[in-house]
Amino acid sequence: TTADLIDEEHRICVCVRARPLNKKELTMKDLDVITIPSKDVVMVHEPKQKVDLTRYLENQTFRFDYAFDDSTDNDMVYRFTARPLVETIFERGMATCFAYGQTGSGKTHTMGGDFSGKNQDCSKGIYALAARDVFLMLKKPNYKKLDLNVFATFFEIYSGKVFDLLNRKAKLRVLEDGKQQVQVVGLQERDVKCTEDVLKLIEVGNSCRTSGQTSANAHSSRSHAVFQIILRRRGKMHGKFSLIDLAGNERGADTSSADRQTRLEGAEINKSLLALKECIRALGRNKPHTPFRASKLTQVLRDSFIGENSRTCMIATISPGMASCENTLNTLRYANRSLLS
Ligand code: ADP
Ligand code: MG
Repeated sequence: TTADLIDEEHRICVCVRARPLNKKELTMKDLDVITIPSKDVVMVHEPKQKVDLTRYLENQTFRFDYAFDDSTDNDMVYRFTARPLVETIFERGMATCFAYGQTGSGKTHTMGGDFSGKNQDCSKGIYALAARDVFLMLKKPNYKKLDLNVFATFFEIYSGKVFDLLNRKAKLRVLEDGKQQVQVVGLQERDVKCTEDVLKLIEVGNSCRTSGQTSANAHSSRSHAVFQIILRRRGKMHGKFSLIDLAGNERGADTSSADRQTRLEGAEINKSLLALKECIRALGRNKPHTPFRASKLTQVLRDSFIGENSRTCMIATISPGMASCENTLNTLRYANRSLLS
């Protein structure tokens, strides 16, 4: 029926966000090769060379649900991506929002907030904005009478292993019971009463994520961070919102790395991003079989991919520079072809 079609269409939303050229790119005189001519179209001007060595730009066009240019702030991105999903968890559903893209393209800026300067501010990220709206919704008469409690978890998946960011990176086991229910054993689920509580947890988790690392980005580019807001009613799960800052998708160089650990990590990331794609496709097509066991990431998100009332949003983040062109095209193809076709 028409109603079913509309419903399916709205289960998955795929957007792209381009950041501005950064200082380093400007210093290197890198060129911005991205144009966003309308609110749902992205153009990439890819540098090419003819046989006679004359150079030209090949324009490639991609269409998304929304395309955000480099003047768009987090608030606006949030409004069109995660915000519509807040209601889902109040209606007993599962919501997920992913940031997907190469390292340095803006995933953490979008999800976690701004950590570039001295004034680290997580209040402007999608984690915090979603939490704020959850507490606002809680006050509405319809939901207030449900007597819901809010909890938060924050963990990281690194090389196929799960670590609790709210408990000094304790390594956690993932178990599947006879009913295919997946459990992350011992994951800390913190009671949160207001947005401030959530901001504190995000700060704790973020500092835990990067502690002991020589470079914050070197580590975070290789791990998936999962932040969850869980609604419970008399202890029972009512709805869950998972917000995920994915590992960087640029893994080409890893396959030839001399370091075995690097190669294995790269392979694991590739595997999980492919599995994710398959699970989102299955969700969009209402397919009975969701291949969630193919990676740890999709396994822990299992209940978000099945279920009648599951909705997903993917924010593909891209770097605007010509130097990033290949990665940008890979990101756009992943998000566009595989998820929307
Ligand atoms: P990623 O998490 O994808 O590796 P980051 O979010 O860390 O990338 O972004 C890399 C740098 O670019 C950071 O310094 C960040 O503050 C900056 N940045 C990212 N997106 C934007 C944006 N939309 N506007 C301004 N600066 C941005
Ligand atoms: Mg990051």
